[in-house]
Amino acid sequence: MTMAFPTDWQRALIIVAHPDDPEYGLAPAVSKWTRQGKHVTYVLATSGEAGIEGMPPDEAGPLREQEQIRAGLQVGVKDIEFLGLPDSRLAEHPEELREAIAAAVRRHPAELVISLYRGPEWGPGLPNQADHIAVGDAVADIVTNAWLFENGPEPTHHVDVSDEDVQAAINSLAEHEVYLSVLDPKTPVMSQARAQVYRSIARDGHDIRVGLRLINRP
Ligand SMILES: [Zn+2]
Repeated sequence: MTMAFPTDWQRALIIVAHPDDPEYGLAPAVSKWTRQGKHVTYVLATSGEAGIEGMPPDEAGPLREQEQIRAGLQVGVKDIEFLGLPDSRLAEHPEELREAIAAAVRRHPAELVISLYRGPEWGPGLPNQADHIAVGDAVADIVTNAWLFENGPEPTHHVDVSDEDVQAAINSLAEHEVYLSVLDPKTPVMSQARAQVYRSIARDGHDIRVGLRLINRP
């Protein structure tokens, strides 16, 4: 059994490694929170410039930033900061990463912080990404006086969301249009987005839930 997610907060900071990381798993909850009038900021360590096969980084980075900005708007997020660290090499520069994230946490004070799963694998044969682990580790070291959750397996808490939030999350992920269409050219972007979002939510009767794992509390 998971516990109901805390509600005693007004500002959330979501810290991830790449464009599209906020959309995998979290976006239905973000949609709910912004509809309630809570403020959500995304901080991305990189611009995902190494993430589109066949596209040079100086083209992919700005394109993925634009896709991320549009994705945020679909779930009510207008504040998005890109820290500009090197995509797929975050674990090579842990001090630089820590300093950049610590500064971002100071710039965006929040009672709730959500970051990426730090474990070695999501399940058997499903290894986690080095960039994700590096960001999750840095955030867990830095954020000690707020609610801190990570987006990974074995959730401790759940957020109840609506069909409207699920649709907003699908629209949000689908904004990563070029990225997804290169990743899987055979499946329409909207179908990919729907499948991914459905995979990330749990249905319990009429309830639709997003699970998150508690790391620290205030
Ligand atoms: Zn990622």
